[in-house]
Amino acid sequence: MALTVVGSIAFDSVRTPFGERDRMLGGSAVHFALAASFFTEVRVVGPVGEDFGAEEIAVLEDRGVETADIERVPGGETFFWRGHYEHDLNVAHTDDTQLNVFADFEPKLSDGSRAARTLFLGNIQPDLQRRVRAEATGASFAALDSMNLWIEIAKDALLAAIGEVDCVLLNDAELRMLTGEPNLIQAARSVIERGPRIVVAKRGEYGAALFTAEDTFAIPALPLEEVRDPTGAGDSFAGGFLGYLDGEGAGDPTPEQLRRAMVLGSVMASFNVEDFGTERVQRLQRPEIDARVGEFKALTHFEE
Ligand code: AMP
Repeated sequence: MALTVVGSIAFDSVRTPFGERDRMLGGSAVHFALAASFFTEVRVVGPVGEDFGAEEIAVLEDRGVETADIERVPGGETFFWRGHYEHDLNVAHTDDTQLNVFADFEPKLSDGSRAARTLFLGNIQPDLQRRVRAEATGASFAALDSMNLWIEIAKDALLAAIGEVDCVLLNDAELRMLTGEPNLIQAARSVIERGPRIVVAKRGEYGAALFTAEDTFAIPALPLEEVRDPTGAGDSFAGGFLGYLDGEGAGDPTPEQLRRAMVLGSVMASFNVEDFGTERVQRLQRPEIDARVGEFKALTHFEE
């Protein structure tokens, strides 16, 4: 079992109605890796600058994440994102994106990362996602996430990348924007026609929906009293979802495994949003995950 992830490794400056943080550790690959690390062996691929210190690497290594393929670029600066959220935390605004070391990134996978059975192409420029997909020759199951920015400025490359993976995870709004289909089911079907067998629509505080040829499944998000920062929720969902499938050895997941993966994705996202950046997941303990799965079961169970 092993899972390779490529995606942004970032410093994030974030403001929400509940507070703010300047240059905290973030990025799609980081949020994903921390969540997935509870279920399987995770390897992160991506560049950082000289401003990325031992303290940041330690956050990943403390969770057992393999960091040998994190490349430190001499004289470079780490990817930077600044954003804020409105009173309605579903509404996010990007105020600044600095690609920095990602602008000239040439993905190089070590033998270990190339051999991993599962691959997650986290949110980065879609041509980079395609290059990593081509290099990860051992991956029999590949999934991809993206965002509105790439749909706007690199749609053709993104559609090509989508044609090369087994599973796509996107926000419902992004699925509609990508396909031009206002109806979510039609939008998911249109993605499936391009190649992927599995489409997951992430719906923020409303939960997530799964679409395959055999199954449609939807779950709510766990109702939480304490939500401080939604940054990284989507990546934590993907980390729980794919980390669980890889840990189960599910190269060709059954409908039952996919449903359980949806719950673990939601559970990991629910922890992520309880505090800023990676703060909550860094102090998370495995029994808390199991307890929350139980809460989920109770929340969604009913007798006919
Ligand atoms: P999400 O899980 O969708 O909330 O993703 C949040 C993470 O995405 C943040 O930690 C950012 O560093 C990262 N991010 C924001 N914009 C971009 C971008 N254009 N490319 C790659 N990563 C990004």
